[in-house]
Amino acid sequence: MDLKKNDIIRLRITSMTAQGSGVGKTEDGVVVFVPMSAIGDDLEVRILKTKKTYAYGKIETIVSPSENRIEVDCPVFRKCGGCVYRHISYEAELEIKYSRVRDALERIGGFENLKINPVAGNDRVDRYRNKAQLPARNSENGVELGFFANHSHRIIPLDDCMLQPELFNRVNATVKRFMDETAQSAYDEGSKRGKLRHIYIRYAEQTGELMVCLVVNGNGLKQEDLLVKTLREEIPELKTVVINSNREDTNVILGGRNRTAYGSGHITDVLRGKSFKLSPMSFYQVNRNQAEKLYEIAENYANLTGNETLLDLYCGTGTIGLSMAEKCKSLVGVEIIADAVRDAEENAKANGITNARFICSDAAYAAEELRKEGTKPDVVIIDPPRKGCDAELIGTIVKMAPKRAVYVSCDPETLARDLKLFSEKGYEVREATPVDMFSRTAHVETVALLIRK
Ligand code: SAH
Repeated sequence: MDLKKNDIIRLRITSMTAQGSGVGKTEDGVVVFVPMSAIGDDLEVRILKTKKTYAYGKIETIVSPSENRIEVDCPVFRKCGGCVYRHISYEAELEIKYSRVRDALERIGGFENLKINPVAGNDRVDRYRNKAQLPARNSENGVELGFFANHSHRIIPLDDCMLQPELFNRVNATVKRFMDETAQSAYDEGSKRGKLRHIYIRYAEQTGELMVCLVVNGNGLKQEDLLVKTLREEIPELKTVVINSNREDTNVILGGRNRTAYGSGHITDVLRGKSFKLSPMSFYQVNRNQAEKLYEIAENYANLTGNETLLDLYCGTGTIGLSMAEKCKSLVGVEIIADAVRDAEENAKANGITNARFICSDAAYAAEELRKEGTKPDVVIIDPPRKGCDAELIGTIVKMAPKRAVYVSCDPETLARDLKLFSEKGYEVREATPVDMFSRTAHVETVALLIRK
């Protein structure tokens, strides 16, 4: 191609990538990716990097802005790795997310005329997260908490994040002050010295209970009594303080050992009328209100009448299955993390649910075992991590021949790949509904309904 670094070109942005970069094509047909641009922008773009058939650039001048643009309200937008859509209206963001799901299902799945419902939008575009994990570092101003910059271990200090409740700012300020006043330092990745690695906060919105977990290099902090006292004085929502030990030289945030410094070591939230115990290790949807919508759509798709055997694969702490347990005959949940399975069992008990059991295993392995034992689920719910499920698991589900399968996915691309496999093996993809759980970020969740032909 003729383009080279530092060239300035004129470009019109016509679409978005799955990661939230704008895309335009030069007159010679070269695709250029431009972060922080918006569909409809007419730009002068500086080329930063060229590849064989495409290039990366950054905005030099906005010649004529997209009508979707809005004022950016965050000083670290696109410096931290979180939001990608603070510069466009929420309606425009939902359109992009809808297109992403439609494109993936058409292009990867081959589903041309599939009914895809409008994206179930978020009622709160900001401050919807109930969880934060902020790395700590030492600075001239003492301990600082922030976010890792995009693709890096540099920390961008931060007093406020628009996706998090303001309550978290109060917690961060209190912990920072405690660290400075007791002359304790943050962990340093280079020298492997220092104490505080991360602060991990979880908030149960329906009960108002707050968990503060401090991830430390070592067994604990000095003067933990004072820490607890200060937090209790400053933060009335505080329910429990947990110290997590992580001495490993890795990127994994949490170490294997938790010690409760105050309270019970967990908090409880309410989701669709059921109570759920949250411990530091167990998975819980970070956007509670949208999770209720997501589960409601899944329940409508499951169409339970009271006689069904329901199989909830990748069940976490059991939230999806337990929220519909009364509507089926029996529920089997499968989850690979032992702590989450224990939480799921306790959650069933706490809610008086007696028709549920949980298996701690790899989903594909457990499904095959259940099939060999003669379990015949009427409805299967599948909610895998981003990489989707194994072809082997899909084969087993097809052999178990449930009438319906409900696929909950946080990655449209792997969803499309997996739905294609189902459709080649006797299942019809009836419809799909995207749900916006993570406003302002590039992520989009989708629920899809499969019916056996
Ligand atoms: N359905 C739950 C959790 C979804 S997140 C909810 O809505 O809250 C996906 C879950 O899959 C996580 O809890 C993760 O621990 C689990 N998981 C990941 N790989 C797995 C595997 N191979 N087999 C079973 N569970 C797995």
